[in-house]
Amino acid sequence: TEGLTVRDLAEMLAVPETEIVKSLFFKGIAINVTQTLDLPTAQTIAEEMGVMVDVPEEQAEATKTTEMLDDTDLEHLTLRPPVVTIMGHVDHGKTSLLDSIRKTRVAQGEAGGITQHIGAYHVDVDRGGEQKQVVFLDTPGHEAFTSMRARGARVTDVAILVVAADDGVQPQTREAVSHARAAEVPLIVAINKIDKEGSEPDRVKQELAELGLLPEEWGGETVMVPVSALRGDGLDTLLEMILLVTEVEELSANPNRLARGTVIEANLDRARGPVATLLVQNGTLRVGDAFVAGPVFGKIRAMIDDRGDRVESAPPSFPVEVLGLTDVPAAGDEFEVFANEKEARALAERCLQEQRQTRLQRASRSRRVSLSGLS
Ligand code: GDP
Ligand code: MG
Repeated sequence: TEGLTVRDLAEMLAVPETEIVKSLFFKGIAINVTQTLDLPTAQTIAEEMGVMVDVPEEQAEATKTTEMLDDTDLEHLTLRPPVVTIMGHVDHGKTSLLDSIRKTRVAQGEAGGITQHIGAYHVDVDRGGEQKQVVFLDTPGHEAFTSMRARGARVTDVAILVVAADDGVQPQTREAVSHARAAEVPLIVAINKIDKEGSEPDRVKQELAELGLLPEEWGGETVMVPVSALRGDGLDTLLEMILLVTEVEELSANPNRLARGTVIEANLDRARGPVATLLVQNGTLRVGDAFVAGPVFGKIRAMIDDRGDRVESAPPSFPVEVLGLTDVPAAGDEFEVFANEKEARALAERCLQEQRQTRLQRASRSRRVSLSGLS
């Protein structure tokens, strides 16, 4: 695979590797020297270091996101569950689909059927006698998807595009398709509301074909599953397809290392203080771990999974809510666990200073502009 590692870039720019790592860290990207950078990020860093860079246009288009894996992980890789985002036009049934999958797959047989809303959840799927998991992000709308992308985090392995069979392709359907394409995330279509009178799944397929998404049964490559979030039709097939589509990707991670991943959501809870849902993308997250998420330091006091149970650890692809943060981090920020707590605290502090500095600079710049506007 081509791609520029931090080390390569440092060499090209003749600056210390640590300068680049630090600079990225202040942007909320936790990375080490053997990991690859996408082109826009490399370009930004180079320009910060005072070097202008030309990026050929085709190359700039085919940008790869920063990877959560590095060379040291290679010998410990194990398969991890796929992480799924649901996108689609308003009222086409995204929330209903998520709820329906969650209800049929999670609530049954769980103690009291109590579910915890932490912004993501996992379901168990029986696949020829083997238990597999699929993780769904239920952050509202695809805003989360785009804002996380803008920060360089790629959290989604596959996107489900929900299209209502009685309404067809709409503006946000098109938007979702282009987002998924830009992020190079495979897409599975769920043609929803097939229970409804006036539903026309074939018309939807036709419209999608015009967008370049040709259904498999018409000789294309896009998996399209007719579903009813309301009645539950097609949900098993949809889960099966998610596993099929992602199995070829051999999604893997190294559970035998300190965790890193992305903040899915965070808020200030009146009783519990700052809480954040972290999606572990590599390594294993444990109670007691010291981590940094942007300018926020945390030492995990407790972890709660999506079923409301306290857990001691979270393996790759699993979302957990964590307590013990000093502040509320931003959704989309990457987090990283450090063996050395002091180092983590110092890093968070430096990041905070840097952010303050940037804000001050911006504020003084805008003041100058408005003053000159007066004269
Ligand atoms: P979202 O905006 O995409 O999250 O859509 P919602 O899940 O809120 O659904 C919008 C409306 O469509 C609600 O009134 C749902 O009850 C309804 N709805 C969702 N899925 C189905 C379905 O499979 N069949 C029918 N008949 N109605 C559905
Ligand atoms: Mg909704």
